[in-house]
Order: sequence, then C-alpha cells, then structure tokens
Amino acid sequence: MSSECVFCRIVRGDIPCFKVYEDQSVLAFLDIGPVSDGHTLVIPKQHFARLHQCPAELCAELTSCAARIAEAAVDAVDAEGYNVLCNNGRASGQLVEHLHLHVIPRHSGDNVFSRWPSYEYKPGFADKIAAKIRKKL
Ligand code: 5GP
Ligand code: ZN
Repeated sequence: MSSECVFCRIVRGDIPCFKVYEDQSVLAFLDIGPVSDGHTLVIPKQHFARLHQCPAELCAELTSCAARIAEAAVDAVDAEGYNVLCNNGRASGQLVEHLHLHVIPRHSGDNVFSRWPSYEYKPGFADKIAAKIRKKL
C-alpha cells in the first residue's frame, strides 16, 4: 500500500469520504468532483495502479460491486442509465493511480460526455489491428 496514494489514504481512514459500500476487499465512495449526482468510485482496498494489474478474482468482485452500486445509484437519483468507466494511464485521463471504476448515473441529454470522436477504419486496417491484438494475448 502506498502511503502517498490518496485512495490508499481514504482506505486507511486518513482522508474522509462519503462511503457508499465497504467489504473486506472493496470500498465505494462518492467522487469529490462529480460529473453527475451519485457519481461513485469503486476501488479495491489493495493498491493496484491499473486494471490489468489487479488479480482476476478481485476484478470480478470490483465489477459486480460496481454493477450493484450502479443499480442503487440510478434508483437513488432517479437516473435513466449509467456509465462504468475505468481510466488507465495518464493518456486516458487517469489522475489517481489507484485502480478505480467510475459509476456515473446518467439522464437523457445531460451532456456528460458530449464528444465521442468515433471514425471509420480504412479498408483492411481493422483486420490488421485485430490480428495484432490477438497475437499479444
Ligand atoms: P481519474 O481521472 O483518475 O479516473 O479520476 C479520479 C477521480 O478521483 C476524479 O474524478 C476526482 O474527482 C476523484 N478524487 C480525487 N481525489 C479525491 C478525494 O480525495 N476524494 C474523493 N472522494 N474523490 C477524489
Ligand atoms: Zn493506492
């Protein structure tokens, strides 16, 4: 556990949080800078920087906890849907390097993610990328 990590400090109780859920291995609390009411962070109590570094069993616990919290948060704030988001690495927007799932309740037209810069692959390129990824697995 890193003493500098802000989420490790929340786990230890050194920094207060608005707790939503806790068990032996997972903690969930409200994001201090929400993008919607009920925006919750679900974290493993043990420190891992990124998703792929977290053991599969714990990933499963984290995900099922996020799903439970998503349903509850949507109900609690009368939302219509939700995003479950996990930033990994600075390039993706990860600011806190302790693995966390964002559970974000959503309402139609709330413009929380107003830009989704999708594009089309050039012919033949998707096949190459898929093959490259398969080779790395
Ligand atoms: P990231 O960009 O790393 O995916 O998101 C980190 C999130 O953690 C941000 O949404 C930010 O508001 C939240 N956060 C950062 N520091 C604290 C804190 O001390 N307490 C709580 N509750 N949330 C925090
Ligand atoms: Zn940590």
